[in-house]
Amino acid sequence: MKKKILIVTTGGTIAMKHNSPFGVVPNDEFAEHLRSFPQLDEVAVIDVFEFSNIPSPFMNPVIMLELAKTIDKMITDYDGAVITHGTDTLEETAYMLDLILKTNKPVIFTAAMRSNSELGLDGPRNIVGAVRVAASEQSSNRGVLVVMNDEVDSARDVVKTDSSKTDSFISPSLGLLGVVDPDRIIFYRRLEKLEKILTDSIEPNIDLIKCCSGMDGRFIDASIKNGAKAIVVEAFGRGNVPKTILPSLENAIKKNIIIVLVSRTYTGRVLAEYGYEEGGLFLQKKGVILGGDLKGPKMRIKLMVLFGKYGNATDVKKYLLNNKEN
Ligand code: ASP
Repeated sequence: MKKKILIVTTGGTIAMKHNSPFGVVPNDEFAEHLRSFPQLDEVAVIDVFEFSNIPSPFMNPVIMLELAKTIDKMITDYDGAVITHGTDTLEETAYMLDLILKTNKPVIFTAAMRSNSELGLDGPRNIVGAVRVAASEQSSNRGVLVVMNDEVDSARDVVKTDSSKTDSFISPSLGLLGVVDPDRIIFYRRLEKLEKILTDSIEPNIDLIKCCSGMDGRFIDASIKNGAKAIVVEAFGRGNVPKTILPSLENAIKKNIIIVLVSRTYTGRVLAEYGYEEGGLFLQKKGVILGGDLKGPKMRIKLMVLFGKYGNATDVKKYLLNNKEN
């Protein structure tokens, strides 16, 4: 029997067309188009729900939370769900849902790098691939998945790596989980670091600051002034920062603002290794928390979720220090 799959549309290039003289802009025919898409009919019984029609730079954590609640509510009538989304912030939305969704049914994100007016558009193939993964018996209990370009990646590890190529979405450090082949879906491995932080609320006031050589503490000072609950610092390499930001970091810690260090490198984790002033080991002794291999935008999402669940810095800190998923 065919599986019942819900497609939830949120917007993005996959739902856009070129409209002269405005350029590529949202188009309101997308949801209707999906309802009568013949290739989908062959794969599953489809329902389409239009959640929003926004470019994904307009997406924010409050809308992400709403999306998660919508999926948990609606998926009870389906075998799985596919969410179409803009590529720009897809990895953040997918990761928030990965952490907070209650359902264990397949939830698959997909998107397109090319709009519906471009030659060689990738949207239709990606949607059919995502629905096939959502309808697969093997896709449950794997966390939120991302299907693009015939590949299956985990929401935790996937990154948009290129601003235009159709093979932009990859998991740079650890690789894909599976592939969408013409005859079947093949999974090659399971994500060991599946993490659930169930919560009905989030705390949006978490900042992300990237280190660069010779910077001073002005952005950290601004975060403190604006009442940030936590600041993710994208440090150099193994977790080292410029000396000139230390007074601001110390000030934040004194004010009970959590500082989490991640690396600005493409792949790899931070470690308490360097003992020189402003090295990772030195910073850890000062009260900075090391954030493992999670990339900056995702660590920010995780802190929003943790503060939503626990509501105070002491419990969030405790969670992070005991967290083997970092
Ligand atoms: N700017 C677009 C968006 O994220 C890009 C895309 O969908 O690929 O909505």
